[in-house]
Amino acid sequence: MRSAGIVYLVGAGPGDPDLITVLGLRCLQQADVLVHDRLVAPELLDEAPSRAIRIDVGKEAGNHRCAQEEINALLVRHAQAGRVVVRLKGGDPFVFGRGGEEALACAAAGVDWEVVPGVTSATSVPARAGIPVTHRGVATSFAVVTGHCLGDDRVDWEALARIDTLLILMGLSRLGAVADLLQAHGRAAETPAAVISRGTLPDERVVVTTLGGLAATVEREGLATPALVVVGEVVRVREELGKERAGTNFDFLPRRVQDLTSSLRLI
Ligand code: SAH
Repeated sequence: MRSAGIVYLVGAGPGDPDLITVLGLRCLQQADVLVHDRLVAPELLDEAPSRAIRIDVGKEAGNHRCAQEEINALLVRHAQAGRVVVRLKGGDPFVFGRGGEEALACAAAGVDWEVVPGVTSATSVPARAGIPVTHRGVATSFAVVTGHCLGDDRVDWEALARIDTLLILMGLSRLGAVADLLQAHGRAAETPAAVISRGTLPDERVVVTTLGGLAATVEREGLATPALVVVGEVVRVREELGKERAGTNFDFLPRRVQDLTSSLRLI
């Protein structure tokens, strides 16, 4: 008799395939069905057994290949058929990933599920670009927000304007409006800001500007998605670390760490 199916909601990490967790990789390697996002690295898809069914439910702005309800139904259906379903999502499944909704759908259908947390882009993308989200004497708080919440009354922009480090996800197109709101609530236009495009990937780009200059910078640079924005004094730490002279992360990585990441592929 086949054992009962299960849904694993697995965080794939921010982009670099080596930044998945060991547990996440183990789940992938046991998948009968792999339901994945557009942002997930192709190398990770190859880690699932070749017999596994791969389903791309990737979402792009304005082009939702699959509605959330359809994804929920898909996960439930395959698990109920006794399969090990891996729902692979960018970053951490519970950080702006709608993982909570998928977990609820499983719970409502009586399907077993587990979440395997991932390395969220919110902190790891700035980190790999040389920006610590907290730093003694510079920043003791950080908040993660999304530009998609503009016009949502539950977002307290006044409170957010007072948080030391702000990490803005999914916000490139509405960045001007977000920057205006923060300034309207007292955040100085000169506050340092960084836009990090395709963080942790070989074509990563980091552009440093100010809160007041964000919108014009993004327009001028034509940065590729995914991208996130860091607003706060911590952006200056990058300069101190010498990261801005180093080009991409990968040039900057000490040889030792490069060896380590490549050996991780053998797990
Ligand atoms: N669950 C994910 C976030 C999903 S929202 C996580 O925990 O990371 C998707 C947004 O995350 C993107 O629009 C972008 O703002 C940010 N993002 C994800 N990967 C990124 C990357 N490699 N570089 C820069 N931003 C990234």
